Amino acid sequence: MIMVKKLEADKTLTDNELADLLETDIYDSSLFEAADRVRRSIYGTDVYIRGLIEFTNYCKNNCYYCGIRGENNNLSRYRLSHDDILSCCKTGYELGFRTFVLQGGEDDHFKEEIICKIVSDIKTNYPDCAVTLSIGEKTYKNYKAYFEAGADRYLLRHETADDEHYKKLHPKNMSLESRKECLRNLKEIGYQVGSGFMVGSPFQTKEHLLKDIRFLQELEPEMIGIGPYITHKETPFKNEKSGSLELTLRLLAVLRLMFPYVLLPATTALGTIRPDGRELGLKAGANVVMPNLSPVNVRKQYSLYDNKICTGEEAAECRACLGRRVISVGYQIVVSRGDVKNGAFLKS
Ligand code: SAH
Repeated sequence: MIMVKKLEADKTLTDNELADLLETDIYDSSLFEAADRVRRSIYGTDVYIRGLIEFTNYCKNNCYYCGIRGENNNLSRYRLSHDDILSCCKTGYELGFRTFVLQGGEDDHFKEEIICKIVSDIKTNYPDCAVTLSIGEKTYKNYKAYFEAGADRYLLRHETADDEHYKKLHPKNMSLESRKECLRNLKEIGYQVGSGFMVGSPFQTKEHLLKDIRFLQELEPEMIGIGPYITHKETPFKNEKSGSLELTLRLLAVLRLMFPYVLLPATTALGTIRPDGRELGLKAGANVVMPNLSPVNVRKQYSLYDNKICTGEEAAECRACLGRRVISVGYQIVVSRGDVKNGAFLKS
């Protein structure tokens, strides 16, 4: 209680205090109430939506936790065409989406100029919309070209801010340092940047989570994406446990208190581990949801983890269902680009 008050008032806590707040044994409603208070003081009851277009499940990487890793041979691979993507945006625009998120595996088929053309065509057709890219680690030159083509935002989760932990989640050819360099480059170029991590990924400790929070304080991202790790049966981590709802909700609340202005999604993964997970996420301080705009016939193939929700519904159904869910917990979806209100975060 005292720690919640202190965090709400001045955003600073020691590592030990933060670790105590993340103890899930005792349910502490004051943490969630404080997060909701802070969220309402800045964003009111508005919830921003992002239309997620999962445009390729080809991936050259082999992250041990991810179902679309290149070495998963038990997956049929797809790529959406330029026209497919534009048509998802058209549907999305009519449903009130003003941000489109293009997410995919690291697929070299989509060369710089192809991505630039997709981005600039979306921006030409929908000048009042923001385009977010989430396509992994690219060169400074690539990032700059996408930005100049009109991309506004970039999501690249750091996944874990601990070097040793990073090595346990990824093969040797990937490194935390190159992930961080990408994030620095994106910031320098002028993107609104989103980072984040999975909660309860294999080998994750409380100390790792504290490092994640400290790293985010250093980076000062406009968006923070966190969701529970969920096991996928075709990965080296197939026998590992999924992350917990309680810890994810506590982290959301702590992040809202530490980064009052941040854009914080209640993720699909949260809705997957529990049917009303996203609603609980909103009550814990989240203010963004990212429903799927991908064509229904490819949804199941973008299987980052097992039992992913919303793989059978058309975009319009998803939008309507989500609207009802958001209202059920006292908020409402707004038609807006949903930019961050203020990028100036307080450092501790
Ligand atoms: N290729 C892009 C997009 C990756 S998918 C990139 O590298 O950024 C988006 C996010 O899904 C990842 O950053 C990861 O945090 C999350 N993810 C992947 N596998 C997952 C799993 N098994 N459970 C939960 N989240 C997962």
